[in-house]
Amino acid sequence: MRVLTTAGFSLLAGALPFAAHAAHRAAPVEAPKVHKVEKVAENVYCIFGQGGNIGLIVTAKHAVLIDDQFERIAPGLLEAVRSVTDKPIKYLVNTHGHPDHVGGNVVLEKQVSAIIAHANVRKRMVTEQAKLEPAKRGGLPELALGSEDAQERARLNLHLDGTEIHLLHLGPGHTDGDVMVGVPAALVMHMGDLFFLGMLPYVDVQGGGSFDGLAAQVAAVASWIPDGARIIPGHGPVCGKKELLRYRDFLLAVQTHAKANPGKDAAALAAGFDTAAWPEWKPRPDFVTWESLFSAALGKGTGRAARP
Ligand SMILES: [Zn+2]
Repeated sequence: MRVLTTAGFSLLAGALPFAAHAAHRAAPVEAPKVHKVEKVAENVYCIFGQGGNIGLIVTAKHAVLIDDQFERIAPGLLEAVRSVTDKPIKYLVNTHGHPDHVGGNVVLEKQVSAIIAHANVRKRMVTEQAKLEPAKRGGLPELALGSEDAQERARLNLHLDGTEIHLLHLGPGHTDGDVMVGVPAALVMHMGDLFFLGMLPYVDVQGGGSFDGLAAQVAAVASWIPDGARIIPGHGPVCGKKELLRYRDFLLAVQTHAKANPGKDAAALAAGFDTAAWPEWKPRPDFVTWESLFSAALGKGTGRAARP
């Protein structure tokens, strides 16, 4: 019985704490099949589902997963991984702490040797989980790179069965705890939510994100990433350097427009911007609009449209 009716709850009043706990943990049993696997390069895959794009790296004896979307679909994610490899998942890397990237941690932590993320991801998850009942807590990163000073650059190189995997934090961007994951031998980079393609980028201003930091990081990666590299964005299709250069130019255009019109508010900036020149980035009234993007560029608001 997955769904307890109101009547069911009243009949089970004495057992309510147990029932609530059971209902919470029962959800993953459904294992909804929403995931699609795309091969990005030799031994590197992108798994699409609901939420942020997942990366999968297969080494000689292990697998490494990058992000895990939501708890309720984590069993389906594991099936998708098993369709590619039966090697054990050694590490789970979180590109940042948003729920559509770390929601599956509570399921995956039982499978992996360690969850790795930036120090601020762990810090924010601890704060968020303190609000939850104990049974719903878990999945915290055990290995944290960087410090709580988001400006401090950090890197961690994993050497797994001869495969190098580079984790890079270059400062505040989408949040204050972003990590990009590079696999040099495969020429692949997972940029997490530092890269949105298909919809306007979200800068989590209240989560320590910075539009200028985002633009600077994208410009930095674009300056050194090799021509043939393949890039997994946090949201959108797998792409290459051409799309990254366009994204760099897009962010620069937004930044330049905001700085060229001091004193104008986000709505006025949005109204005066040549949105048609950037069809790859579409506004979403329920998420990031042109106005909320310019608000983020001014360092104000939440970076996303107000929830209805
Ligand atoms: Zn995010």
